Amino acid sequence: MSFIDSLPEVRGLLVANVPLKKYTWLRVGGEAEVLFVPKDESDLAHFLSSTSNEIPMTVLGAASNLLVGDSGVKGVVIKLGGGFSNVSIEGSFVRAGAAALDSKVAKKAALSGISGLEFYAGIPGTVGGALRMNAGCYGSETKDVLVSTVALDRSGRRMVLNLNELKYSYRHSGASNDLIYTEALFKGVPGDISSIHDKISEISDNRNISQPIKEKTGGSTFKNPDKKKSKGLSAWELIDAAGGRGLKVGGAQMSQKHCNFMINTGEATAADFECLGNEIVSKVKKYSGVELQWEIQKIGNF
Ligand SMILES: Cc1cc2nc3c(=O)[nH]c(=O)nc-3n(C[C@H](O)[C@H](O)[C@H](O)COP(=O)(O)OP(=O)(O)OC[C@H]3O[C@@H](n4cnc5c(N)ncnc54)[C@H](O)[C@@H]3O)c2cc1C
Repeated sequence: MSFIDSLPEVRGLLVANVPLKKYTWLRVGGEAEVLFVPKDESDLAHFLSSTSNEIPMTVLGAASNLLVGDSGVKGVVIKLGGGFSNVSIEGSFVRAGAAALDSKVAKKAALSGISGLEFYAGIPGTVGGALRMNAGCYGSETKDVLVSTVALDRSGRRMVLNLNELKYSYRHSGASNDLIYTEALFKGVPGDISSIHDKISEISDNRNISQPIKEKTGGSTFKNPDKKKSKGLSAWELIDAAGGRGLKVGGAQMSQKHCNFMINTGEATAADFECLGNEIVSKVKKYSGVELQWEIQKIGNF
């Protein structure tokens, strides 16, 4: 029996050998052995409870912070779709499905005069990715606005986790990597609609100026290091000083516009990106003694 035939019946989509390249911002990576797009939370819960814990499961959001290996991803890749993309307003609270884009959360909040969530207009991922990464920009992070999240564990058990259970730090959650987030509840504060829109425009303009957002990129490649260790320098400043701006390996390049962003100049492979990133880590270490940590998440086989 083939692997896909051994999986339980679902109401959503279950497809074998799906190229993941087209889903990722970096436009590289091999195939998912099986791609599962659950119809809704109960479909996902049923699938998880009916599959062996031995089967690897990997969740994909908008893949804006992901490097997928050239040899693909074994097991099941789960991509939450339309059944998880609703955003609704409850007073000053915003409830959002994990597949909703962060920008949709920002826009819906803005239209309802809820301030505090404007920064999500600057992040091209989904709510699920933001929950895992503690995504943030322009002085705000997910942990500043999150109240609670709904998640399923590997056996399909539904749980509500409060902010403190997610153990957030800079671009990191200490909660189990096996959790699949399905929903989040955010809290904002009442604000003036036109000021909120102005702030969103300012964030979008700043991004256009400073980031290569029209390229095939993956956002910040490396986390900013501890300022005490880096003498106050951020990742891009260390990369720049170590000669990494514009550095190329195959079709992968450190952006000239923002040298902590990697870009696919055309025919890059995941291996090119991995090599380029490793080369940057070693250059920066040699130059400053600082060991950069990848912010981009690597999945699959390289
Ligand atoms: C142009 C550009 C600009 C960016 N700017 C910023 C920025 O300013 N600030 C910032 O923080 N990030 C930024 N990023 C990175 C990225 O957008 C964020 O990390 C985002 O939160 C990732 O969300 P995603 O949906 O794309 O997640 P993915 O990249 O698909 O996945 C990231 C991680 O989250 C996990 N994940 C995704 N969904 C779920 C889920 N439902 N349940 C459990 N785990 C899940 C994945 O398994 C993976 O480990 C930028 C990226 C780009 C391309």
